[in-house]
Amino acid sequence: MNPAPKHRPLDKLTFDNRFVDELPGDKETKNFPRQVLGACYSRVSPTKVTHPKTLVYSKEVADFLDLPQEACVSNDFAQVFAGNRLIAGMEPYASCYGGHQFGHWAGQLGDGRAINLGDVINSQGERWALQLKGAGLTPYSRTADGLAVLRSSVREFLCSEAMYHLGVPTTRALSLVITGEQVIRDMFYNGNPKAEPGAIVCRVAPSFIRFGNFQIHAARGELDLLRKITDYTINTHFSHLGKGSKDVYLDWFEEVCRTTAQMVVHWQRVGFVHGVMNTDNMSILGLTIDYGPYGWLENYDPDWTPNTTDKAERRYRYSNQPACAFWNLGQLANAIYPLVGEVEPLQQALDVFTQVFGEQWNLMMSQKLGLSRYDPDQDDDLFAELLALLQSVETDMTIFFRQLAEVGLGEGNLEDIDVEMLIQPLDDAYYLPEQKTLAYVASLFDWLKRYNQRIVQEGIPQEIRRERMNRVNPKYVLRNYLAQLAIDKAEQGDFEMIAELLELLRHPYDEQPEPGKAAYAMKRPEWARHRAGCSMLSCSS
Ligand code: AMP
Ligand code: MG
Repeated sequence: MNPAPKHRPLDKLTFDNRFVDELPGDKETKNFPRQVLGACYSRVSPTKVTHPKTLVYSKEVADFLDLPQEACVSNDFAQVFAGNRLIAGMEPYASCYGGHQFGHWAGQLGDGRAINLGDVINSQGERWALQLKGAGLTPYSRTADGLAVLRSSVREFLCSEAMYHLGVPTTRALSLVITGEQVIRDMFYNGNPKAEPGAIVCRVAPSFIRFGNFQIHAARGELDLLRKITDYTINTHFSHLGKGSKDVYLDWFEEVCRTTAQMVVHWQRVGFVHGVMNTDNMSILGLTIDYGPYGWLENYDPDWTPNTTDKAERRYRYSNQPACAFWNLGQLANAIYPLVGEVEPLQQALDVFTQVFGEQWNLMMSQKLGLSRYDPDQDDDLFAELLALLQSVETDMTIFFRQLAEVGLGEGNLEDIDVEMLIQPLDDAYYLPEQKTLAYVASLFDWLKRYNQRIVQEGIPQEIRRERMNRVNPKYVLRNYLAQLAIDKAEQGDFEMIAELLELLRHPYDEQPEPGKAAYAMKRPEWARHRAGCSMLSCSS
């Protein structure tokens, strides 16, 4: 073996592993799937892999971890973020959590294929937890293998970063590494198992604690652990609230309600459908977490869910995300009830979710339309009628809102205008041009007249409206078929498109007029309408 170079830049990372230092761990040290009682985590090492290779990394994440570029392109980086080498200070562990899956209590789930390496404290004093997803078996792997495949890892890597640049609270992704090994997956659980390339994403967030980390201890009656992990969470991530007491627990829960509401408003704004809003996939920090069978609305269909596992009930469809977040918060309230001992104040905090969601949603919609403020006397109808219009014919949500900024409004009453000319900027938004009937055009024109009145009332010049709207209505999102094209190429050994999409999605609100970029803003091509991976995804990953 070659001796390790003396000063590897990765070795400069400083760790402070409070989670394992302060919370009780599993006494059993052997790594086999089991129920882990009386502990918040189990220490476990990542499984070694044969030929790790870094496919892509995020510059911004490397930057805030104080990792210079040379470090990220080194072989050492691939070794570390594939789990083959631990840096001094890393103390790998898998956390214990439970969860409600599709509305039913599922008992212990836990980090079945996620291994936390430790918390980096960067030069700004910020805490960033590093977690490898797909790094092998843990005590929480149940009957599965602890591994992840390339397709789901590409999706997680790209979407985490895309969401961040869209301004949506999310966990981040430092790296995407292929392991050089094959993983067997039956993608649609229909008896067609196939070998796929294995991959590992290093996720990064201040914390990966989920609602389920509290639920598991409440469900097991481990009230001491429940209090400990709650105090830990507050001390470490909500220290502005003070030390654990009944009032602080309530303030904390209210803050979780608030941040969760804000996160879901952002999802609705950009047309993101999480796909698996189980309580084990709800971050206590209000971050989007666990990119599985997520998808982006193409045509505006509030009933759409990308997740084939949820096809019958559509529990996690776009329009149901706020209600699911609320339900999940209700489960978290049940879990922490023993710390509070009173229903009423927990209920009041839950009401804060409804209130914040409502306010922020109205504000978000008015911003999407470039208005200066939300007017309760006029705008509820304006919004509702617009959303009904979008559904009445297959309309690409992203293109419609982006192009609405190009429709010339703000002057007069539109009485003598050439309607076809007026609505021409919206042409690219329609999937089925034959649906653009005279009746549809008439309703659209009616709506535009009302919208125009609001713009005239507020005196918003066209330029200002465009500029405002383009700040909240992205031109580029990680369209389902684009992610799939990048995956198809990556599975053939061509990783260019992953890097290209990462670069594109760094600036989702910019026009990016450079050659080749416009294609990424186009609506889903017909071939992708029913293709697996584009419109249909399963939990298999
Ligand atoms: P998810 O639906 O992906 O959030 O996963 C639900 C639970 O299943 C979590 O506890 C995961 O850690 C676990 N899980 C998912 N996939 C695997 C896998 N390939 N190996 C082990 N555990 C897994
Ligand atoms: Mg999960």
